[in-house]
Amino acid sequence: MKIGRTRDGGLIMIEGGSAADVSAVDITGALGLTRGDPLLQLLETADAMARLAAVPIAGLPRVPLDRVDLAAPLRRPGKIVAAPVNYLDHKIEMSEQKTVREYGVFLKANSSVIGPHESVRLPYLDKRTDQEGELGIVIGREASGVTAAQALDYVFGYLPVLDMSVRSTEDRSTRKSFDTFTPLGPWVTTADEVGGAGALELRCWVGGELRQRTSTSELIFDVAELVSYASHVMTLHPGDIIASGTPSGVGPVSDGQSIVLEIEKLGRLQVAVTAEDAIPYADRPGATVMDD
Ligand code: MN
Repeated sequence: MKIGRTRDGGLIMIEGGSAADVSAVDITGALGLTRGDPLLQLLETADAMARLAAVPIAGLPRVPLDRVDLAAPLRRPGKIVAAPVNYLDHKIEMSEQKTVREYGVFLKANSSVIGPHESVRLPYLDKRTDQEGELGIVIGREASGVTAAQALDYVFGYLPVLDMSVRSTEDRSTRKSFDTFTPLGPWVTTADEVGGAGALELRCWVGGELRQRTSTSELIFDVAELVSYASHVMTLHPGDIIASGTPSGVGPVSDGQSIVLEIEKLGRLQVAVTAEDAIPYADRPGATVMDD
């Protein structure tokens, strides 16, 4: 199944190029879904997969997908966990000495989420902001200390994620948490439909130029190891997202460019880039010490 969200906060199921709004369907029984973050709400109820599978999508009115105003499928996930160096070719391009095995994972602010066709806002005029195209994992059940062998049972689905990153000296959580720095979408494809995320082709274009191309088979920590590792650090909750890391080919994005991330079976996520609110790095709050 492919599950998405519309800009007005509705829940949709996508099938064969069209979408059915299932917001009005009684998916959760007495609980009901409120408009806003319905997928998150659904994942927090028991048996989300079974409830979705029971939706009578065949009998619902459909809208062609190109007429649907898609938003980020999860508006405000509980947390966004991310892997720093999880492809060897990216380790080499960044002259990194270590990988995810030594760095572990980091967190991005959940306020950085945007959806398809929204704009990444560059914070600084004179610091690089790079695109990082990544396979995103959506957690379906609470996971704490799970083994790699168990880990896939806790995965609800997958989606393309852009981990936008300023290249400066601040900690990762700062450089990657600016508002608009985590585009998600176009929808979540459930794990059963993907049939294993171990060898999906990932491609990312900036301004029409193909910059990144890999297979998820190149991941250092694969999906199962990454979920297991993260769950030994922090309890993972339904709707949490894990960005699994980026391959080589990261580079600066600039005002007016578009970024397209396409992952096999998961769809194509496109966002714009704007420098409208960008300021000189030296003008950021706290940059200068006032002497008197
Ligand atoms: Mn990244």
